[in-house]
Amino acid sequence: MNKEQLSQQIKAEALRLGFSACGIARAHFVGESKAHLEQWLAEGNQAGMSYMSNHLDKRCDPRLLVEGTKSIISVALNYSPSRKLRDDQLQFAYYAYGQDYHEVMKAKLTSLFNYINEQLHPVIGRVFCDTAPILDRYWAWQAGFGWIGKNTQLIIPHAGSYFFLGEILLDIDLEYDSPMKSRCGNCRRCLDACPTKALEKPFLLNANRCISYLTIENKGAIQAEYASKMSNHLYGCDDCQKCCPWNRFATSHLVPELQPSEAFLSMERTDWEDLTVEQYRTLFKGSAVKRAKYEGLMRNLKAVLPED
Ligand code: SF4
Ligand code: SF4
Repeated sequence: MNKEQLSQQIKAEALRLGFSACGIARAHFVGESKAHLEQWLAEGNQAGMSYMSNHLDKRCDPRLLVEGTKSIISVALNYSPSRKLRDDQLQFAYYAYGQDYHEVMKAKLTSLFNYINEQLHPVIGRVFCDTAPILDRYWAWQAGFGWIGKNTQLIIPHAGSYFFLGEILLDIDLEYDSPMKSRCGNCRRCLDACPTKALEKPFLLNANRCISYLTIENKGAIQAEYASKMSNHLYGCDDCQKCCPWNRFATSHLVPELQPSEAFLSMERTDWEDLTVEQYRTLFKGSAVKRAKYEGLMRNLKAVLPED
């Protein structure tokens, strides 16, 4: 089988496994994207996510992360929910509605890797989904199925941005796709929609101001300046995606593990106020929401509820 046929078979199997998109890029040093990342870090935009500065050389060249890497297969899994919290309920980012996406993605990526290794060509490689220093949006862009929008999200034309991204690094040459041109045009809806002006200019997200960061990764208090702008965002924020015209094309995912539970969808404000640690553990068993911990969720709740 030549590399064109191999690449086609890999993409066909990725779609069969339920991924919405799959592309392939030659492994390389990310060039000027490293300078942009260094500047973003030097300005402190990563807030408390100090791990972003770790392993910068590996983050910017996957051949240093896994020796012998020649190709990067990038995949996208749809997480746009069919059933949503009502607008008058306290809101969670869509990605957090179901079970922890790391597990779902890892299982599908491993299936794709095993298929390649066992059915197509012996390979050496590794699978990743938010589990190593990799610029996942950069590689999805290089793999040709989307572009990085002004909101810093990966946007797939006529599909939107509600996608988990994952990668397989392989030691064989494949047929490579070309990076996609931006289709944001003159649009700046995401910049205008951001409640805290965390998108300071196109492609520049200051995590210190971002509700997603403040309600999930942040370990400290939420400053009054931002709490007053959180509205009903209890966990994460999708405002800069919900307003994006490309998300009008989003279709609902079909992944059972990512479906929200009835208990979650029926939570009212008073239920959140009365939530005990035990109820929290039951409600979010196997969910990525556990990242914020019970205390973190209660801190967020205090920020979004009006003072008595
Ligand atoms: S996630 Fe929310 S707060 Fe963060 S940049 Fe997007 S709109 Fe702004
Ligand atoms: S809202 Fe407009 S500018 Fe922002 S990412 Fe979407 S298309 Fe691009």
